[in-house]
Amino acid sequence: MGRLFGTFGVRGVFGKEIDCHMAYGLAKAFGTFLRRSVDRPKVVIGGDTRSSTKALKDAAISGLLSSGVDVIDVGTLPTPAVQFACRKIGVDGGISVTASHNPPEYNGLKLLEGNGMGLSREKEAKVEDIFFSENFFDADWRGAGRYREVDILEDYVEAIVSSVDVELIRERKPFVVADLGNGAGSLTLPYVLERIGCRVLSINAHPSGAFTARNPEPNEENLKDLVKVVKAIRPDFAVAQDGDADRAVFLDENGSFIQGDKTFALAMREVLRRKKGLVVTTVATSLVIDDVAREMGCDVMRTKVGDLVVTKALLEHGGVVGGEENGGVIFPDFTLGRDGAMATAKIVEALSRSGKSFSGLLAELPVYYQVKTKVHLEGDRKRVVEIVNDLARERGFKTDVTDGTKILVEDGWVLVRASGTEPIVRIFAETRKSMEEAKKLIDMAKDFLERAKKMI
Ligand code: MG
Repeated sequence: MGRLFGTFGVRGVFGKEIDCHMAYGLAKAFGTFLRRSVDRPKVVIGGDTRSSTKALKDAAISGLLSSGVDVIDVGTLPTPAVQFACRKIGVDGGISVTASHNPPEYNGLKLLEGNGMGLSREKEAKVEDIFFSENFFDADWRGAGRYREVDILEDYVEAIVSSVDVELIRERKPFVVADLGNGAGSLTLPYVLERIGCRVLSINAHPSGAFTARNPEPNEENLKDLVKVVKAIRPDFAVAQDGDADRAVFLDENGSFIQGDKTFALAMREVLRRKKGLVVTTVATSLVIDDVAREMGCDVMRTKVGDLVVTKALLEHGGVVGGEENGGVIFPDFTLGRDGAMATAKIVEALSRSGKSFSGLLAELPVYYQVKTKVHLEGDRKRVVEIVNDLARERGFKTDVTDGTKILVEDGWVLVRASGTEPIVRIFAETRKSMEEAKKLIDMAKDFLERAKKMI
């Protein structure tokens, strides 16, 4: 973790942890960094619907222009659409002004590579160095960057529409409720759904920086109103997005919340039908991914947790689809990051092809029992998790230490991972056997953790 950059760029409470001076400085540092390899860099900038986005974005634009960078402003858009714009327009870098799923008082800057992928840690560290040293490049009046606005919305929507079988979907005409949570997805997802042949009911679809309708994190707790809507009007399914619309989560026709790895499996299968190839996911994702990939004759590669790690592995190994258990799906031929609208379009395609109800389609997937929990732990959490690995191996278990300690058992696994930001250790268990068995795996991991704690 850098001095400024967290897992998803620079983020904090507006006016306290992040303000316009900082946005100006960061963008100027980014511009200075880009000028080291390109004479006249081009940068795409866009942002989400937050109240503070315009202020931060204009400050960042000033930072870029004054360091001699040409700026292409794509306006208010989901982060994946900004990433799409980077590639489509052909630039040297990008900035998305967003705090993703965080509450309304937050905002942030996510820096992007020229191809739209999140900026690498190494490059972030270099931008940080310039920011703190204030060793900025200052352009004179001749060298100041040029500014223009580009409307990328239609290209983005059309690119998704052309990635699915619209004929197939139009025959079924699925009825979809889309909860946009006042976020940037309001500008894209309802139009994508309509264009591919769905009947759409949009809720919380007025872009609002205060996120008055619900918390922008689309978890089960925050989607209670959506459950009521589904139960009252019985659509084929419902989708909910986070603030910057890179993620999409789903409810079936009964209003039941669906785990992200299941919808990832369905979207993945649609991708593999068109193009066979490697699937990339993290160590924390369900074995259902391996089952479905095998059924399609494809291999799975597992990485550390994090969308950037998955995206990088997709790029390096030529993978065709990637994803995470939180409902993030990456389509590398489209954008180099998670895309909630494309994931939804693929789910619509899967449903239309099946001819079944959403719950019926999900019921065909192999059944796994999962338990997820967390334990409070102060001190050297990483070391404790390493000792858990030693203890498990002493007991004769096979383990995987790609990220934390994953103990492999017959028909399942349990993963023990230290959080990078909070004093907690997360424990995920999954088994083919029963819920009882999943709980036993959690207890076993907790037991190892207790013993490891005493050994430090
Ligand atoms: Mg997000």
